[in-house]
Amino acid sequence: MIEPLLRDAGLTRDSAGELLMAGVRLADIARQVGTPAYVYNAEVIRAQYRRLDAAFAGIPHRICYAVKANGNLAVLRILRDLGAGADIVSIGELHRALAAGIAAGNVVFSGVGKTAVDLRAAIGLGVGQINVESLGELERLAAIARELGTRVAVGIRVNPDVTTDTHPYMATGSRADKFGVPLDQVMAAARLAAASPELELKALAMHVGSQIGDVDPYRAGLRRLLELREQLRAHGIGSIDTLDMGGGFGISYRGETPLAPERLAEAIGPLLENTGLTLAVEPGRSLVGSAGVLLTEVVYRKHNGGKEFIIVDAGMNDLLRPSHYEAHHEVVELTARERPTIVADLVGPVCETGDFLALGRALPAVEPGELLAVLGAGAYGFTMASNYNARPLPAEVLVDAGRWGVSRPRQRVEQLFASEEPEPLASASPQRS
Ligand SMILES: *Cc1c(COP(=O)(O)O)cnc(C)c1O
Repeated sequence: MIEPLLRDAGLTRDSAGELLMAGVRLADIARQVGTPAYVYNAEVIRAQYRRLDAAFAGIPHRICYAVKANGNLAVLRILRDLGAGADIVSIGELHRALAAGIAAGNVVFSGVGKTAVDLRAAIGLGVGQINVESLGELERLAAIARELGTRVAVGIRVNPDVTTDTHPYMATGSRADKFGVPLDQVMAAARLAAASPELELKALAMHVGSQIGDVDPYRAGLRRLLELREQLRAHGIGSIDTLDMGGGFGISYRGETPLAPERLAEAIGPLLENTGLTLAVEPGRSLVGSAGVLLTEVVYRKHNGGKEFIIVDAGMNDLLRPSHYEAHHEVVELTARERPTIVADLVGPVCETGDFLALGRALPAVEPGELLAVLGAGAYGFTMASNYNARPLPAEVLVDAGRWGVSRPRQRVEQLFASEEPEPLASASPQRS
C-alpha cells in the first residue's frame, strides 16, 4: 500500500535502505537543516502540472494554481515557469505570487470576506479577475472601481448546490456552506454587474470542495453554470467568456484512487464543446500534495495507560491536518531496517491532546534519534503552520533532480517576538476622561 505513495512522491530506497527523494538522501537534508522540515520534489510538481495541462489540451483552458495549498516562492516559481497563473484568497498571497514572478493579470482573487482595503489593493496591483461571492461584495467592488476610475473584470462565484463525498470541513459547494452566490441570486448579481460600467462580467465560477475523488460534482456544477449562462444570455447579458471550475482534485493519502485529470477532462469536455467558452482550472492540492514530505525526529518512546507513544519533534503547529481534518498521513522511516512493528500513537510536543500525527497506527519500532518522513505533506502543510507554543516555523527545502537547497530557513526564536513591545503603555498618552 505504501509503494504507490512513495512513487507519487518520487521517493525510492537505496541498497542501504535509505530513503531518497529524486536521488537525494533525505537523512542528509535532515542532518543539515534540522527537523521538523518540509521537503518538496520539484519534478513531481512539474509532472502533475504537465499531466493536467495535457489532459485538458482539447479544451481551451488556463490553470491558476491555488496559492493557499503551498505558497513557498520556490514552488510558485516552478509553476510560473510552466505557465501557471494564480488563484489567491488574500492580499498576502497576491504579494507572494507577484514576488515569484506571476503577472498580476494572471491572478484570480477568490474569497468570501474580501474587505474594501483588499479590493482596493487588488485593483491597484492590477489583478486579472475578482471572483465575488455576494451581492454586497459586488456593490462594494463597483463603488471602489468607480472611485478609482478603473474597469475591473469580475466573475460570480456561484454556489452550485452540489454535494461532495469529502470531509465536512472541505465541502464548499452545497447550499448550507458560506461560499458563493446562491443559485437564486445569480441573476440579480449578474444584472447588477452588467449595469455597472466599471465592471466587466467575464466568468461564472464554482469551487465545490477539496480532496474530491469523482467527476460527478464537477459535471453537475458545470451543467448548472452553463444553464445560468443561457439564462443570462436570454436576458441580454452575453459577456461571459469563461467558466471557472475551481479545484479540489483528490490525491492519494492512504491508497485512494486520485482523481485522474484525464477522466475529468473526458467528463466535462463534451459540455464545453462549441460553447466558445474558456475553462479556468484552480488546482492546489493535486499539484503539490504528493510532492512534499515532513521530516521529523523521534524524541522519546513511552508507554502510558496501556498505550505506546512515539513522541516526535513535529507537532500540530507544523502539520495541522491530522487534528483539524482527521486526515490520514502515511509515515515511513528514513532508514529502513529489520525490526518489529508496534501499534502506537505518533504525537508531537505541543501541549494539546489533539496534537497528533497518527493514532493507533502500525509503525516500525523506531528509537529516539531516528528520523521519519510524513508523506503527502506538500499541500496545506506549511501554509497552515503556526507559532503555537512559541514554536518557530519549520524549514522548507526544494529538491530538484539530485540537488537540493533551502527555500525558507527555519524561523529563529528571536523572530517570534522581535516586533512586540513589553510595555506598550510606557509611551502612551494619558486617556482623557
Ligand atoms: C482552495 C481553493 C482551490 C484549491 O483547492 P484544492 O483542493 O487545493 O485543489 C481552488 N479554488 C478556490 C476558490 C479555493 O478556495
